Amino acid sequence: MRLKQPVYQVDNFSTDHNDLIVNETIFHNANGYIGIRSNYEEGYPEGYDTIRGTYINGFYDIADMKQAEKLYGMVETKQTILNIADAQTIYLIIDGEMFSLFEGTTLQSTRWLDMEKGITGRSIVWRSKSGKEVEIIIKRMTSFYQLSLFTIEYAVKALNFSGNVEFQSFHMGEVTNYSNEDDPRVAKESGKYLIPTCAEIIEGASYLTSHTSKSGLTVCTGVKHLLSKEGKLHTIIEDHKAICNIETSIKEKETIILTKYMVFSDSIRQKDCIADAQSEMAKAISFPLEMLYEHQRRYLQEYWENCLLEIEGDDDLNKAVNYNMYQLIQSVGKDEYCNITAKGLSGEGYEGHYFWDTEMYIEPFFHLTDPSISRNLIGFRYNTLDKAKENARILGHTKGVLFPWRTIMGTECSGYFPSGTAGYHINGDIAYSIISYYLATKDLDFIADKGAEIIFETARLWLDVGNYYKGSFRIHEVTGPDEYTCMVNNNYYTNVSAQFNLRWASKFYYLLKDNNKLTAVADKINLNEGEIIEFDQAADCMYLPYDEGLKINPQDDSFLEKKVWDIENTPKENFPLLLHYHPLHLYRHQVCKQADTVLSHFIFEDAQSLETIKNSFNYYEKVTTHDSSLSTCIFSIMASKLGLVEKAYDYFGDSAKLDLFNTHKNTKDGIHTANMGGNYMAIVYGFAGLRLKEDGIHFAPVIPKQWGKYSFQINYEDSQIKIEVGQKETVYTLMKGTSKQIYVYGNQYDLKDTLNIISVTRNN
Ligand code: BGC
Repeated sequence: MRLKQPVYQVDNFSTDHNDLIVNETIFHNANGYIGIRSNYEEGYPEGYDTIRGTYINGFYDIADMKQAEKLYGMVETKQTILNIADAQTIYLIIDGEMFSLFEGTTLQSTRWLDMEKGITGRSIVWRSKSGKEVEIIIKRMTSFYQLSLFTIEYAVKALNFSGNVEFQSFHMGEVTNYSNEDDPRVAKESGKYLIPTCAEIIEGASYLTSHTSKSGLTVCTGVKHLLSKEGKLHTIIEDHKAICNIETSIKEKETIILTKYMVFSDSIRQKDCIADAQSEMAKAISFPLEMLYEHQRRYLQEYWENCLLEIEGDDDLNKAVNYNMYQLIQSVGKDEYCNITAKGLSGEGYEGHYFWDTEMYIEPFFHLTDPSISRNLIGFRYNTLDKAKENARILGHTKGVLFPWRTIMGTECSGYFPSGTAGYHINGDIAYSIISYYLATKDLDFIADKGAEIIFETARLWLDVGNYYKGSFRIHEVTGPDEYTCMVNNNYYTNVSAQFNLRWASKFYYLLKDNNKLTAVADKINLNEGEIIEFDQAADCMYLPYDEGLKINPQDDSFLEKKVWDIENTPKENFPLLLHYHPLHLYRHQVCKQADTVLSHFIFEDAQSLETIKNSFNYYEKVTTHDSSLSTCIFSIMASKLGLVEKAYDYFGDSAKLDLFNTHKNTKDGIHTANMGGNYMAIVYGFAGLRLKEDGIHFAPVIPKQWGKYSFQINYEDSQIKIEVGQKETVYTLMKGTSKQIYVYGNQYDLKDTLNIISVTRNN
């Protein structure tokens, strides 16, 4: 299986300040455990703003979060992801002249990411001031095969001289986190969180160990160098820094290669980090680098085989979508100790926190392409149930759990509760995702083992949050997905997701009971049938706001009473509004940061008539700024559903190129992982109209006129299905597994054997 455009490449790359910092994100390397920004080995000139970052998913320290007024239950500390030891710096000195792109002459330069090989690189032909020419090829890899491992392969070829070559390679333990006082989306206070505890050289490798100032965690990093020919290697340690000097000679046309191995170990996952780092290093260097590259290639071959998606007729979009999908596998945690941060492992935006982004925007991709990853992500939530229970008690709830709006290790980290903790819909989102996992896999064992407990406990919370009023069940003082409208009564999205959560708590109860899988979980959390009857009753009576005049679902009880924000006449430079207007001013207007009711119509489409969904889409489109990167993908999906294919295409394009074109102007702080998952959804759930329902899998494909065809592969239950949507027909092929019934535009078809093909003519 080959990608049509496996390489994302930038030729003659710019050394402009702003481009460099964005490219640090775009070309970062990550594998779900570690992430390293793409900073130049040789560094930048004085005064260049850069975010030098190396991160471990889930590894954090605790920082104070001062509240101006000490009200009960306010969050006073937060977790923050840490910048770990920096091993990116390698100086190259040729006969006494130091290589730098900012001196001498760059004759040729290319920067690339190979998405099949899992390697990034820079190729440069450079002439020193004295006229010596070298070709430099630097390749970087964070291994999917050995998650602890990052490698830099630094190759130098002498083009027109023979002489001496020296490398100075650094391993620095004294690092700080990035901060920006003016942007609420990154940390405000600059932090030095790691305290050095040990620095040593063992068998030629340097090991730096530090512990965190408050969270009680330890991290050890190891660095070792191998040179392709004879040379002098000498490592010294001073303070918490190891410097390795490497000296050798080079002949004209000769290539020498320095390989730098860096391994990571942390005390969340390992008992003895130093011993573990040493054994990870021994493992890494026991293979030739080429073999590690081969393992990487094989891992990605399997990845792309499971999820390959192609667009014919628009190479730019095809490349952008593949880039986004590559970032998902780079970012997602590979164990239950972590999750997927809003910025992946590419930067410090949102401080490495996990949000509802995981469940609503990213898990749908993994449910269909690699459910084992979904199980890890759900497993992470399961492991934090106790913390979610404590959180609920702080908020005054006597039963159930409330998951934190943003977190690393399970406790709430949002300082501003109106657009943080009040987002109770996170409970419904987590429940929704477990239900979707079940509908995609029918894996009832996992539900019995972990999923059901979460569903029952979140359902319990809704009963405690809401109350009956005039016969209907209502939920007050919550914030829906749209963060420009906070602390409202009966947010439509929240209510409908609570209803779904309650209904499925009841469904799973009886499903598990019928399959003799209920006892363990019911006994563990003391659940009885009486509670299930209460769940059913609240779901049946759930109040879902509807406006008779406009024939739409109002976002909440008061939304339609407010002034409409004049988006058209708002100066362009005032977006995102959150950086230019007081929150209260925003809250008093009808203006949405992102899809809210429109999102609920996507995921709970059976709750309303098509007419209401259409009217709502038209209404909310006019009052939505899409200041959040989680928005245009959802509008694209709904435009596809409503047959507005051109519009869907435009929204889709905005979302696909968001990071590659830095359209939100903050890609320097990291990629937007939820948007990347949403972008995949815009094709699979949007254009192809996929829905997972109780009666089976549904499709309702449309195709933009700009494309000849688009195709993708999904896992569904025990099968793999390929879907190819052309301008005239759609072909469904059973690639693996047992026969399936599928629905296309509501009609049922049997997809029997491998290569059994059904052609369906487009009906729009
Ligand atoms: C969005 C949230 C999202 C967060 C992290 C915010 O801008 O409004 O919905 O969870 O970013 O991506």
